[in-house]
Amino acid sequence: MSVNKKTQVLVLGGNFAGLGAAQKIREHAGDAVEITVIDRKGYLDFIPNIPLEVFEGRDPAFTMHMPLLEALDKDDIKFSQAEITAIDVDAKTVRLRPNERPGAPEYTIHYDKLVIALGARLAYDDIEGFAEYGHAASDAYHANRFIEYMKNDYKGGQIVVGSARFEQGTEGRPDWLPTALAACEGPPVELSLSLAHWLEENGKGSAKNITIFTPAELIAEDAGEKVVKQLLEAASSMGFNYVNKTEDIKRLTATHIEFANGQSIECEVKLVLPNWKPHDFLKGLPVSDEVGFIITGMDMRNSDYPDVYACGDAAALTVPKLGAIGHQETEIVGRQIARDVGAMSAEEADVDWHPEVVCIGDMGGGKAFYIHATSWFGGDIQELEMGQIPYLQKVAYKEMFFRRHGKVPNWGVPLAKWSAEHIKL
Ligand SMILES: Cc1cc2nc3c(=O)[nH]c(=O)nc-3n(C[C@H](O)[C@H](O)[C@H](O)COP(=O)(O)OP(=O)(O)OC[C@H]3O[C@@H](n4cnc5c(N)ncnc54)[C@H](O)[C@@H]3O)c2cc1C
Repeated sequence: MSVNKKTQVLVLGGNFAGLGAAQKIREHAGDAVEITVIDRKGYLDFIPNIPLEVFEGRDPAFTMHMPLLEALDKDDIKFSQAEITAIDVDAKTVRLRPNERPGAPEYTIHYDKLVIALGARLAYDDIEGFAEYGHAASDAYHANRFIEYMKNDYKGGQIVVGSARFEQGTEGRPDWLPTALAACEGPPVELSLSLAHWLEENGKGSAKNITIFTPAELIAEDAGEKVVKQLLEAASSMGFNYVNKTEDIKRLTATHIEFANGQSIECEVKLVLPNWKPHDFLKGLPVSDEVGFIITGMDMRNSDYPDVYACGDAAALTVPKLGAIGHQETEIVGRQIARDVGAMSAEEADVDWHPEVVCIGDMGGGKAFYIHATSWFGGDIQELEMGQIPYLQKVAYKEMFFRRHGKVPNWGVPLAKWSAEHIKL
């Protein structure tokens, strides 16, 4: 325990899972804890709306960065801007290097409770030929680079959109959690639909120019078979081509995409999602599975190291890698830490949690699809809506998130669910 009597909580990562966990810990544990968030950048990157922004002509670097420090300060949460380089769960320390100016040394800091919310590496650099021939839309740089290509250089050729193989760990994995061959397939579905609209709007083509591919038997399996069937029927009536069981992306060349199953497709544009890979320094820790995701129970804590929590993409339980699932996990982390410090009873802290897939994807033209499903986790919900209301929800959710500094009220998601499921336009 440090000189300061309050329990020192370190939250590593300050995007959706890190900010959400810090706020929930403060909400439930009150002033029994001192909370510090550490991230290499001082803003939250609202990743899910990046594709929508570029297709609607806005630069996500201007519109999707929410100031993080202001949000944290409202809850008296400290912030350190630094690159985290190592964690020692036996010594209860974290190594970090302040990164505002190059040249800073590394420091070791102590924690009483640790929340690992560091997301994952989007491993584009593992795909052979990506730098020369690939495109992406998962951050402002790549999304801007992609849309500039489409505006200025696109020659009207085939466009492939899909995912590389996701490598999921098995160590410590509960029986009910299936193996996902792709980490998150809402984005390729969303990108295909909204790109088709953009091509038409700009007189450059249509859905017929696009081939959607998946390493799996079925794209977006976590949405449930019924939902995917409806999505694929809609996509095929619009003219999209669809290729499944590609296994993995083998390499990209100037003229083709080659897959691990031996197939290859001639194409001009390769818009891809890579493997979601844990950060190198998480691999080999006693709290990590064999690939580097953090093993937790449903209480989001590691059973061998009960002061170590994880939430969001860094957690092994978070599959598919969805911000919405990470958001559900932050509530659990907040309650469990409150219980640890005596601010909440075990009864209140041990809430039953059933993960849910919630995904709203842009389709272009002021429309979006909304998916709500629990079938991936053994439940029976499989809902799909398409139209203007889900689009309004997608835009409104981001607005509400920014205005409330990330504190989406508990009713926010259920309201979004309710209106998408019950109001038809
Ligand atoms: C194109 C796209 C669209 C998506 N759409 C949706 C959607 O519609 N709905 C949905 O629910 N999900 C969506 N997702 C997934 C969603 O973006 C992720 O699940 C979510 O961002 C995970 O949040 P996180 O906080 O766990 O991790 P991240 O958002 O990856 O944040 C990790 C944080 O840790 C910091 N960090 C990492 N390593 C270090 C280090 N060594 N030192 C210091 N700081 C570090 C990073 O700077 C970052 O702030 C989409 C993803 C993509 C790529």
